[in-house]
Amino acid sequence: MSIKKKIILSFFISFSIIATLAIAAYLDFRETRNEFKYLELAESIRGKTLQLRRHEKNFFLYGDSKEIDFIHRYIGEIEALIKDAKPYTRNDNLDRLDVKLKEFSLEFVKITSMASKFHKELASLKPKEPSYLFLIPIIKATFLEHPMQNAQLLKRFFRISRKDGYITFLKRLGNDIKDLRKSGEKIIGISKELDRGARERVQNIINVTKVAVLVFLPLSFLIGFISLFYISHNIVNRLKKLMLTIEKSGAGFFSPMPFPSGHDEVSTLIRTYNNMAEALQVREELLRKKEEELMQSKKLASIGTLASGVAHELNNPLNNIHISAQILAKEMGEDCTGIIEETVDDILSQTFRVKKIVANLLDFARSKEPDFQEVNIVNIIQKRYTQAQKITGFKDIAFLLESPPEVFLQADQVQLERVFVNLFTNAADAMAGKGELHVKVFPEKDKVKIEVSDSGNGIPPEIKDKIFDPFFTTKDRGTGLGLSIVYNIIKNHGGSVSVESTVGAGTTFRIFLPRYK
Ligand code: ADP
Repeated sequence: MSIKKKIILSFFISFSIIATLAIAAYLDFRETRNEFKYLELAESIRGKTLQLRRHEKNFFLYGDSKEIDFIHRYIGEIEALIKDAKPYTRNDNLDRLDVKLKEFSLEFVKITSMASKFHKELASLKPKEPSYLFLIPIIKATFLEHPMQNAQLLKRFFRISRKDGYITFLKRLGNDIKDLRKSGEKIIGISKELDRGARERVQNIINVTKVAVLVFLPLSFLIGFISLFYISHNIVNRLKKLMLTIEKSGAGFFSPMPFPSGHDEVSTLIRTYNNMAEALQVREELLRKKEEELMQSKKLASIGTLASGVAHELNNPLNNIHISAQILAKEMGEDCTGIIEETVDDILSQTFRVKKIVANLLDFARSKEPDFQEVNIVNIIQKRYTQAQKITGFKDIAFLLESPPEVFLQADQVQLERVFVNLFTNAADAMAGKGELHVKVFPEKDKVKIEVSDSGNGIPPEIKDKIFDPFFTTKDRGTGLGLSIVYNIIKNHGGSVSVESTVGAGTTFRIFLPRYK
């Protein structure tokens, strides 16, 4: 994945995490606010129910009619609070409280109407004796608190027609008051539960928030740390390595980086760098070869000038010696025997050898420009081998030619023949007259590749660089000019020659020649 995509992806991941956290925090905040609101309402309900009970107690204790108004007011207020609290919870206790409050209200209304009725009836009652009149205010004040005791007082000290009726009435009033008190207790119990529940919910939400903070904070640190490690390891480290490798390349040590497996920009950069390093390596190798060739040409040119001078100087005295020896041999005729005849023959053969060396020297030194014509290289190779076979050294050499029947190119026929004569002679020398000479011709579109391989003793690596130098030879009677002449001719044809050899196994000379000038 590309770095751009990775950055976009990590942005979206971080954005999603932050957005989720923000939404969670907002919801949590809303929930907390609701819970506090609910707690506030639950607390008010609890406070009002306590007030309700206080006024209820006062009413039964003192029978003060102001308390009735208070009680109705508080019932109304609690009902309004229940209505307000309902949207914040699905708690059954609110409904239960509502029902109990309604029951309480009905019971209270019933008790107050019973009480006012009793009040009216009490005013019309006559005491058995006038001195008992003082009991009326006492009964009025206490009948709600102790209905049964007051029923006894009425029975004893007042003239009452329906005695049992009063007793039953006050008994019923007493029971209703008991029921009302029970309802009141229930209301207090429910409101307590509501209050406790609301507190627990607030505590819960605080706990959840605490846990969320404790989990998310380290988690976001962990995610941040992982991203940082990934970016530093995957991108920065690779870039650092690339920088070091480029610095080394600048100092001339081209080395490719390990092949990158990814497909991001850094991997592409490393791949591009590797391609560039490879291309630079190839160019450097080419440059080195060209430099070597230039050195070789310079060397050959200076040696050529020297050689040509020496050859010219030697040629005339050598001819004189040779002609003199021939005249001497002729003059002495048949009479000449023994040591004199041997010496004259020796002079003749040695001067002949030196003349050949001088001719070679001149050949090398002149380094004629090729006379380009269309030639069939396969013919040249075959012709040169057939002629070479006539020499004794070639008798036991097997010749193998792998080639199409005709391969045409533009070249100097005589010079190319010279190339193969020299290569074949060297091969025969290396094989000591016995072995295999293998020639392969590979025609290509613009050039021809020719390989001349022998199964001879090979070239030791320490002299491999010198074999194309003029006068370098390892042979007793060698001139050291054969390969320099080959080198010059191939170079003048715009081609190249190289050698590959294994000591004890054989040598291959590889020649490239352009097909067209
Ligand atoms: P010369 O044959 O006179 O020595 P060359 O220039 O032809 O000169 O060869 C130079 C040297 O290269 C040889 O003396 C020999 O050591 C080595 N050489 C050339 N061709 C071969 C070959 N085919 N196998 C082994 N050594 C070779």
